Amino acid sequence: MIETKISAAFYRGDKSFVVEQTAAQVPNAGEVAVRVAYCGICGTDMHVYHGNMDARVGLNRVVGHEMSGTVEAIGANVTNVKMGQKVVVRPLDHCNDCPACDAGHFHICHQLNFLGLDTDGAMQEIWTVPAHTLHVLPDDLRLDHAALIEPVAVACHDVRMSDLKEGEDVVVIGGGPIGILVAMVARDYGGRVVVSEVNKARLAIAQKLGFKIINPAEVDLKAEINTITGEKGADVVFEVSGTQPGVDAMTEVAATRGRIVMVAIHAQKPKIDLFQFFWRELSLVGVRVYEPVDYEKAIGIIASGGVDANTVITDVAPLSDIQKAFDDLDRSPTALKSLIKVEADA
Ligand SMILES: [Zn+2]
Ligand SMILES: [Zn+2]
Repeated sequence: MIETKISAAFYRGDKSFVVEQTAAQVPNAGEVAVRVAYCGICGTDMHVYHGNMDARVGLNRVVGHEMSGTVEAIGANVTNVKMGQKVVVRPLDHCNDCPACDAGHFHICHQLNFLGLDTDGAMQEIWTVPAHTLHVLPDDLRLDHAALIEPVAVACHDVRMSDLKEGEDVVVIGGGPIGILVAMVARDYGGRVVVSEVNKARLAIAQKLGFKIINPAEVDLKAEINTITGEKGADVVFEVSGTQPGVDAMTEVAATRGRIVMVAIHAQKPKIDLFQFFWRELSLVGVRVYEPVDYEKAIGIIASGGVDANTVITDVAPLSDIQKAFDDLDRSPTALKSLIKVEADA
């Protein structure tokens, strides 16, 4: 690490970010300093921007976790990466000492530290992280595309947990950034995917990406799905809308023995038609973040073009414009993924 001062964007409360010079953190034993190339703005970062997470993140936090970069400096006792390698960070640090960790479910550790929320994140030129969080990328992978690996890994986890098989019928309820990625990964698995969404701009994007689209505000979703699936219904349903109508629809469109995956975070307790779980032996699967295998799958999907990265990335702005990037994303009905170009010459 040549320079000691780096640029970092600090969230200071009330929808505001300030870019300041700060000292780069030298990696301790077991840590690696990563020169950040790109960092995507996540829906969670938007919640921070809106002030909904001040109690958790405080008012001097560097956010960002959907990143790509290169290894800049390596602490003692690190063997999994080499200098200059392209990497992404799986931003989860676990305690190794709780029932979930004991069972090997490190991603849902009871004391999980989410890097970029509970500690400083990737909206800074050099980000120092535990070495075990790193995944090495192929040399020829574009670093802007690689910034999609974290959200694609979310989708990979969701689809893996659904046990989706080739040729099965899939309905994705909610066509926002995560819904679109779930749809793309489900299609990559060989699923026959329909996207249900009420926002016309999002429907247009889903259609452009080649998905069959349904607007349940205009047509009867259940009837349409029955027609498409030969009256069977969807083998797998992803609830990504986080709305009561989405929860109503998820049981209506599911096939007998269908699997429903709860991707959305429901802050309120929705009403669920539990009778359908009895009558048609439905299953409901909970999913949260990702495991290492989901990251490796996501790297493969991005490298092979299984996700249309150029369509998903709708904006790229330099770190100095982070305030405008958040303001614009907050107002835009059509944006999918905004990236911050953190390294000046990435
Ligand atoms: Zn995220
Ligand atoms: Zn734990």
